[in-house]
Amino acid sequence: MTDYIVRATAANSQIRALAATTCDMVEYARMAHGTSPVATAALGRLLTAGAMMGAMMKGRNDILTLQIKGDGPIGKITVTADSNANVKGYVDNPKVLIPANGKGKLDVSGAIGAGMLNVIKDLGMKEPYVGQTVLQTGEIAEDLTYYFATSEQIPSSVGLGVLMNRDNTVRRAGGFLLQLMPFTDEEVIVKLEKKLGELKPVTQMLDEGNTPKQILELLLGDLGVEINETVPTCFFCNCSKEKMEKALISVGKKDIWEMIEDGESIEMNCHFCNSHYIFTIEELRQIERRSSNV
Ligand code: ZN
Repeated sequence: MTDYIVRATAANSQIRALAATTCDMVEYARMAHGTSPVATAALGRLLTAGAMMGAMMKGRNDILTLQIKGDGPIGKITVTADSNANVKGYVDNPKVLIPANGKGKLDVSGAIGAGMLNVIKDLGMKEPYVGQTVLQTGEIAEDLTYYFATSEQIPSSVGLGVLMNRDNTVRRAGGFLLQLMPFTDEEVIVKLEKKLGELKPVTQMLDEGNTPKQILELLLGDLGVEINETVPTCFFCNCSKEKMEKALISVGKKDIWEMIEDGESIEMNCHFCNSHYIFTIEELRQIERRSSNV
């Protein structure tokens, strides 16, 4: 089963909604980065949000970056998505282990700590759009809801969830994102708030076998939900040996000479997907010839 996002509207287009299943994406991230359960949950939630927010962008080359910078043991969490819902991400300390929270659940909030959420949208303008808000709970979904309300002035509701198997592989992952248009009727808002108040956690809905479409129906069924589109989403990193080479060339002849003189091949890692790229001495010599005299 591959991951996908369902797009819908409800209440005569007064509500815009997305729901996603992202189990494969989050399991891929877990394997690539060797994340602990709490890091899998934190990264998985942000990847899921990134996928949905990426899919909301209009331009083909638009790029979204979500960054959570807290003072907790997980360090920074970074996720990047494009408008085709290709998403990648990493956490600074993937092995972080902390005790469960008071409810016996993975303590994502404790791992993240207090800090900021940054939302950077590169929409092909001169300057990227940058929104920054203070983390409200560190549970990520609430932090994004707060971001939309304060930074984009769009009343929204975000639900995100990652559920693990006993062996710490990813069992379920997904989420939803609802946004109200400026002209939404009070009656619709009241109905929706009631629904949201009664809604089961995302992980529970997914684990009960609900698809993204069924989650949207549970949420918006009696508000006249119209399913518009299904789009695939996945963990995808566009790194390559060629790009790593370009990065090497940019460090300049002098530093490359030092690497050559050390006499050992070097390894470069991609932060986003943890791919390793080895450059032998012979390759370094070739790169040195093409680099500038910085
Ligand atoms: Zn990569």
